[in-house]
Amino acid sequence: MTSLAQLTTMRVGGTPSLLTIAATEAEIIEAVSAADDAGQEVLILGGGSNLVVADDFKGRVVKIASTGIENDSTVCAGAWVTVQAGHSWDDFVLTAVKSGWLGIEALSGIPGTVGATPIQNVGAYGQQVSETIAQVRAWNRETKKIEVIFSANCDFGYRNSIFKQFPNRWVILSVTFQLPLGEMSSPIKYNELAVYFDREIGERTTAQEMRNGVLELRAGKGMLVSEDDHDSWSVGSFFMNPRVESSIVESLPSDAPAWPEPDGRYKVSAAWLIEQAGFAKGFGLTERATLSTKHTLALTNRGSATSNDIIELARHIKAGVQTKFGIELKPEARLVGCGL
Ligand SMILES: Cc1cc2nc3c(=O)[nH]c(=O)nc-3n(C[C@H](O)[C@H](O)[C@H](O)COP(=O)(O)OP(=O)(O)OC[C@H]3O[C@@H](n4cnc5c(N)ncnc54)[C@H](O)[C@@H]3O)c2cc1C
Repeated sequence: MTSLAQLTTMRVGGTPSLLTIAATEAEIIEAVSAADDAGQEVLILGGGSNLVVADDFKGRVVKIASTGIENDSTVCAGAWVTVQAGHSWDDFVLTAVKSGWLGIEALSGIPGTVGATPIQNVGAYGQQVSETIAQVRAWNRETKKIEVIFSANCDFGYRNSIFKQFPNRWVILSVTFQLPLGEMSSPIKYNELAVYFDREIGERTTAQEMRNGVLELRAGKGMLVSEDDHDSWSVGSFFMNPRVESSIVESLPSDAPAWPEPDGRYKVSAAWLIEQAGFAKGFGLTERATLSTKHTLALTNRGSATSNDIIELARHIKAGVQTKFGIELKPEARLVGCGL
């Protein structure tokens, strides 16, 4: 039987009692409804790149495997592209760049499926997927109806959405993007990219160059999934950047990276907090699970880690940051059958 360790990028987790690979919208709805009607919990699985699943997990799993990209050429305002939920996100970004559809090129190299991207409103290098999502088509497991949810009603925020707030309500079937047309990238918003391209913030490069640059930067940080690179056996960033009151920011050293938020609070760099709490790259409680040797925000499986090893490491780091700064780190990934 296939285990969650084989289906997730952290490569930990037990074996489902039933694994259904659902390759069409009808199969997805049928498989999820069957579990719901039987009153059984079901884990909806995309590419498994944002999940830490318990070693003793034995539940039902529906793997979303529907694929396809459809551009509605009757729409005049840019490209209006609908992508099936199980389609590889990065394959879609590649298609977009090749087709002259803009706005997601900085999200190159993020693993997983298109259907999972609205859930935590994936973001990187100054772009967030919510900026280009027009609508989400989803199966409502409570009303047992298909709904089209417009972007404005998705309550998108930093690594957050209505889908994350109500994790058992919807299964995302497809996502429709509205993308401007052109060859040049969106304006550079991220300092690391500006340095890489030797351009100012707000300037542009081509979308293809942006993609290439982002992929190179990500590979250097272990943020591209690779069988050979244990630094990428992870969920990407394990913790979110915490949002704190301005009084907390004032209590931090003046070089602490912090960005003002619209609500008056500040977003503080979780990587900085972890490093300053004494956890250097490569830190581990065991050799099996350590921080990435390239990036302090990624907890990684060095080859034989269990879910318990990862959780123990996460708890230790969270406690260290809490003791040193009084700031609570929260996981970005979904923890299934385990918790901090
Ligand atoms: C090396 C690496 C780098 C990463 N870099 C980034 C980054 O730069 N930015 C970023 O935001 N994230 C990043 N991530 C996290 C992750 O890739 C994204 O969150 C991604 O969107 C998860 O997609 P998935 O298909 O793998 O979802 P999964 O891990 O399979 O699932 C994640 C959650 O979504 C739910 N879900 C999945 N599909 C559906 C669906 N169709 N309907 C309803 N619920 C669903 C699952 O039940 C689960 O709760 C990174 C991860 C790794 C391993």
